[in-house]
Amino acid sequence: MSDCIFCKIASNEMKAELVYQDERVTAFRDIHPAAPTHILIVPNKHIEAVSRLEVEDEALMGHIFTVARKIAQDEEIEKDGYRLITNTGVNGGQTVFHLHVHLLGGQMMKHPMG
Ligand code: AMP
Repeated sequence: MSDCIFCKIASNEMKAELVYQDERVTAFRDIHPAAPTHILIVPNKHIEAVSRLEVEDEALMGHIFTVARKIAQDEEIEKDGYRLITNTGVNGGQTVFHLHVHLLGGQMMKHPMG
């Protein structure tokens, strides 16, 4: 998608603070961090949201989670714990319509259910 900012970051057309990249996914620091560690993990191919996932994307989604674990180890937040969030659609709070998983840690996270 030519006008998608996360496609541009994944193709290295737009600058971001990358922490991990391979042929399937890219991870970079969120520009407005909500926690001491706040990293976004995105598929390199454009998928709008979880609501657009296909069966063929299952391995890719699994890969995103194992990459999240590797980054948590590298960021030294694995022992204390961290949170993975995927906002989906307008009511889910999604603002960038390229699927992404937020990796948040480095502090006690408030429970999202209150
Ligand atoms: P969401 O609201 O779940 O769609 O999350 C989108 C996230 O992308 C927000 O936390 C933004 O701060 C972040 N964001 C938007 N543009 C950029 C960018 N150019 N580089 C890094 N993070 C970004």
